[in-house]
Amino acid sequence: LEKDISIVDMPDGYQGEGFFATKLGDVVGLARKNSLWPLPFATKCCGIEFMATMASHYDLARFGAERVGFSPRQCDLLMIIGLISKKMAPVVKQVYLQMAEPRWVMAIGACASSGGIFDTYSVLQGVDQVIPVDVYVPGCPPRPEAILDGFMKVQEIVGKESLRRRNSDHYKKLLESYGIQ
Ligand code: SF4
Repeated sequence: LEKDISIVDMPDGYQGEGFFATKLGDVVGLARKNSLWPLPFATKCCGIEFMATMASHYDLARFGAERVGFSPRQCDLLMIIGLISKKMAPVVKQVYLQMAEPRWVMAIGACASSGGIFDTYSVLQGVDQVIPVDVYVPGCPPRPEAILDGFMKVQEIVGKESLRRRNSDHYKKLLESYGIQ
């Protein structure tokens, strides 16, 4: 029976003894993208849609991201969900700085991405004014499907992330442009 199972629909490389050639970066990327630990920084109504995304119907756990954490040191995906006021901006930046590399950022909803309808003196017109953002999810609020779509785009980026890029001169210059050393 064991033999029968091993030969059914198995590509050549998986049968019997042998080896698989790939790049270390691809293996690390595969592991990373399927085990992201999100930190939801939810401030407003979009947070309700994120709760629905985590619940059983949409089930973010299917993507290996069910371990939501609130300690920046343990998380690698910062999800900015909702409006960020200018007073809150230094806190967002501090949370980002407390996360270890490699780290990624999603701006979820119109408020996080651009300030949304709140074009006022007290509201940050997009969280990308203080930290680099990898993926923007449009909508007011975005439905859970849109949040999942954005999450899968982050997974694509994570899977292709070079092991060296985060230490590259380009990345350091990008952080410097945000005033982050
Ligand atoms: Fe609320 Fe719309 Fe802003 Fe989301 S984008 S936090 S739903 S006002």
